[in-house]
Amino acid sequence: MKICCIGAGYVGGPTMAMIAHKCKDHTVTVVDINQARIDAWNSDELPIFEPGLDEIVKAARGTNLFFSTDIDTAIREAAIIFISVNTPTKTYGVGAGRAADMRYIEKCARKIAEVAEDDKIVVEKSTLPVRTAESIKCILEANSKGRKFQILSNPEFLAEGTAIADLENPDRVLIGGDQTPDGLAAIQKLVDVYAGWVPRENILTTNIWSSELSKLTANAFLAQRISSINAISALCEATGANVDEVAHAIGTDSRIGPKFLKSSVGFGGSCFQKDILNLVYLCEHFGLPDVAAYWNGVIEMNDYQKHRFCRRIISTMFNTISDKKIAILGFAFKKDTNDTRESAAIYVCQDLLEEQANIAIYDPKVPAVKIRQDLCVADDNPYVTVCKGNKKGSVYLYIFRLTVSCGWGFLFDYGKEFTDRASQWCLPCNQPWELSSGSLYQRRGAPFL
Ligand code: NAD
Repeated sequence: MKICCIGAGYVGGPTMAMIAHKCKDHTVTVVDINQARIDAWNSDELPIFEPGLDEIVKAARGTNLFFSTDIDTAIREAAIIFISVNTPTKTYGVGAGRAADMRYIEKCARKIAEVAEDDKIVVEKSTLPVRTAESIKCILEANSKGRKFQILSNPEFLAEGTAIADLENPDRVLIGGDQTPDGLAAIQKLVDVYAGWVPRENILTTNIWSSELSKLTANAFLAQRISSINAISALCEATGANVDEVAHAIGTDSRIGPKFLKSSVGFGGSCFQKDILNLVYLCEHFGLPDVAAYWNGVIEMNDYQKHRFCRRIISTMFNTISDKKIAILGFAFKKDTNDTRESAAIYVCQDLLEEQANIAIYDPKVPAVKIRQDLCVADDNPYVTVCKGNKKGSVYLYIFRLTVSCGWGFLFDYGKEFTDRASQWCLPCNQPWELSSGSLYQRRGAPFL
């Protein structure tokens, strides 16, 4: 069977690579309007870093996995079309700042309606507001010309940094569709694809609205745990309790469990914030302001924590960090990814720069140009050093003053030399502060320069 995926991003690329890797009988073509991204997927340097991704892409590429900008042909030939394009928060018009921007999804639906020549199963892989399938169906049916379209919802639960392991061994695959004979047949067709490697009992099928809403709900629950433990971290600092000990103590309760209880500078990444904002918007739209306010609190706590972290650095350093050298290890939103979207490191750096600190940033996977772009600073900004390539070692000059470790930069690339010096010279500031990720360390007894 031929499968097409529109959108060659952090979800489309890895998920389709996994289908091609596991289901040799299917031919999978991933298409995108972004020529540079497709070129990178076809090169030795993939546009996305994920442990294990290189191996499966390179093994299947050119055999039953293809990357292309020829969107029309891929749609025309496929029986199943995944839509995996971005759904960022809307920045304009009605719902700006909260609602999901649906323009990319709509363009995909119109493109499918325009070029499809026979019946298709269209799968929502992107995270979408509940009842989006209705709009997609409306667009497709208005232009059906006798063709039949079945819309399924199949949200993706992978986490960046562990995408390949998550895809290979998912807790569950969720597939929602119409509960009609045609809808159930379409669900079964997609179930058969995943059953190529996922145990049948881990493939859940639901009605389409439940599936759409489950993805937003899952992200809201995960983010809520982070905000909850972060709220408690502020209380721990005020009272002398240790947030790691509290987290461990409550996490051993089987009703609570240990995951997502690491106090941090707050969650980042492209999904949590946007999906909760979207949930808040939906609640308001459906006349549920109290429910909206409840979920909005999760975002408010996250913002509070990010800025509290910087205020803490400043107060620890005699209320001024002007011209003081601070090393930032790791810039992506967490380790094992090159994705910087909504990275807490961006907010931390911006707050530090506002106080005229002198920062040196090192991340093994994020290009220097991307770091500068995210911080909106020019190449010659005297306060920002990006330590890449042969300038990489210069981050050492900063490490011994103050180090903010945002993820994997801390131990990953520095090895024994850094850990030895860190243990000799660095002291966790009262409570260790972990970004979804790292800690705040301060040179023992030395003046900050
Ligand atoms: P992304 O920005 O990395 O990739 C989206 C791709 O779609 C881009 O390459 C873009 O060029 C392409 N695109 C946009 N419009 C197009 C069009 N009309 N035709 C062809 N290509 C088009 O986004 P992502 O991180 O892969 O996320 C995709 C969706 O999956 C989002 O809805 C997101 O919420 C959801 N999701 C993301 C993650 C994650 O960890 N990143 C996890 C689960 C779900």
